[in-house]
Formats: sequence, structure tokens, C-alpha cells
Amino acid sequence: MKTFMPGFRQLLDSLSDGVYFVDRQRTISFWNRTAEHITGFRSGEMLGTRCQDNLLRHVNAEGLLLCTEHCPLVKAMEQDQSAEADVFLHHKGGHRLPVRVRISPVHDPAGNVVGAVELFADLSEKTGILLQLEEMRRLALVDALTGLVNRTGMERELEIRLQERFRYDWPLGVMFFDIDHFKAVNDTYGHDVGDEVLKLVANTLKSNCRPFDSFCRWGGEEFVGLLRNVDAATLLQVAERVRMLVEESFILHHGTRLGVTISIGGTLARTEDSAESLIRRADQLMYQSKQAGRNRVTCDVA
Ligand code: GH3
Ligand code: MG
Ligand code: MG
Repeated sequence: MKTFMPGFRQLLDSLSDGVYFVDRQRTISFWNRTAEHITGFRSGEMLGTRCQDNLLRHVNAEGLLLCTEHCPLVKAMEQDQSAEADVFLHHKGGHRLPVRVRISPVHDPAGNVVGAVELFADLSEKTGILLQLEEMRRLALVDALTGLVNRTGMERELEIRLQERFRYDWPLGVMFFDIDHFKAVNDTYGHDVGDEVLKLVANTLKSNCRPFDSFCRWGGEEFVGLLRNVDAATLLQVAERVRMLVEESFILHHGTRLGVTISIGGTLARTEDSAESLIRRADQLMYQSKQAGRNRVTCDVA
């Protein structure tokens, strides 16, 4: 690449990740040394070829061929968004290699997307039986789409937190979230965009909680938050902040901002509560927020 600052090429060659750059047509313009090691393909063989020439033949875990129709590079450039995925590439020696790819769009000084950079790390050393088991356990308790704890995981945690609540009298707050008019997002933009929006909401929840709070994907477009050691005022404050942060978040869909709002119900655990009654009450309060016009918080404790 002509635009490299002195030393930049050496820096890229010294990385432990494979790195390559493509332009908007997905023609490869740089291929670092680690990429050569990981794939067996020399830089000279790759430069000037295009992803869609399908040399690397990326497939996902379901065996779907990504390079021709479902290329994450194209998606990253079109949506001007970074992406990460675990895929399998074709090694020059013929075998399949698991890699974690991280893709970012590359901009010109005016901010236009002129290409993309992909970093990929070899995952093959980690495929031992122990890691496989760990993965199975994680998959059973973690929602695959959002990376949040799933309902089973949350039900487990809720039982523990309720024990704490009764044994030590530690207050426990529960929030129930439901995305407003989410069906319309799917109907208007398609299910894949709907999934991106679900991730957006999940990431907003993940990035804005205290270390001892937890959020889960309860199901569909519903989420539950557990807040330890909160009083009524703090619960209301946190719920209001989350509502506002989601309202202020958006993805870019063909250059336009796409966001959603959420309705929230919040309540504190009571002595007579079971996990079920607690969640049900938060859900009913959320429903009151819906009826009152959506994009709002209803707490029964303030
Ligand atoms: P309201 O404001 O009353 O909550 O309206 P709503 O449209 O959000 O409610 P509704 O329950 O009718 O729609 C929820 C939608 O969520 C319907 C379903 O297709 C969608 N959904 C559930 N899970 C997923 C998912 O994993 N991905 C996507 N894209 N959509 C999902
Ligand atoms: Mg719902
Ligand atoms: Mg909804």
C-alpha cells in the first residue's frame, strides 16, 4: 500500500493476527506476514485477487459460503460498522481452519468508506475437549445473538439473589424491559436488521451496568435486569437512565439512523416473593408503561 507511513508495514507484519486490506471492490491490497503463516498463501498470491474470487472460501459454522453472497466485509463497508465473527477459512494445504475475524471499515480523510481491514486470529490451538465443554456450558446459559445471559441463566441467578435478599436483607431490584413496536422494525427492515437492533439494546445494557448488576435476554425482545443493593429511588434512576440511553442509541442502516425505545417496569423484591411473582410484577409494570404510551418507566416503589 502506497499510503503506509514508514514503519507501518513492519508494525503490521509483527502482529500476531493476520491482517489484510481490501478496497470497495474487495481487491486485496495488503496481506501481512502472519496472514501468510496462518493461511499458507503468500502475499504475492493474494495481492490483486478479490475476496469474491473465493480463494479463502470462508464458511461459517453452518457451512454457509460467505465470500460470494454473505461477505462480512461487504456488510461492514455498507453499514460503516465493525464486525466480529468466528468462521472457517480454507488453508492452502486444503484443510479448514477456525479463525476469529474482526473487520473494520477504512475511511478516507473526508470520512467516506474506501475499503475495509480484516484481522484474523487462528483459533485452532484452542479446540481441546475442555474448551468444547466450556463452550457447551456457555451456550446453555448465554444467548447466542446478544451474548447476554439467557433466561435459564437468569432464573438460576434470581434464585441465588432471592436467597441473599431473605437471608441478609439485601434489597434486590428487578427491571423488565420490552422493545417498543419491535415487530414494525422486522416488518420494515427485515429480520437481520431486527437482530442488529436487539444486539444494540443488549450492548447498551451491558455497557452501562454496575459490575454487580446483571442483565439477561429473557426472550424475544424482552430483557430483565437485576440490581443488587438498590433502594427505590436508585432503581427508578437506573431504569430511567437505561431508557434514555437506549433512546439515544442507533445503528446505521444504509446511512440512516435506526433506533428503538423500550418500556420498563421496575420493582423491589418483597418478603413473600418467589422468582416467578417478582418477574410477573415487573412485567405487569412494564405493561403499564406500554399502556401509558411506551418509552417510559413505571416503578411501584418510588
Ligand atoms: P410492543 O410495543 O407492544 O411491545 O410491540 P412489539 O411489536 O414489540 O410487540 P410484539 O410482541 O407484537 O412483537 C415482538 C416481535 O419481536 C415479534 C417477533 O417477530 C420479534 N422477535 C422476537 N425474537 C426475535 C429475534 O430474535 N430477532 C428478531 N429480529 N425479531 C425477534
Ligand atoms: Mg414482547
Ligand atoms: Mg415489544
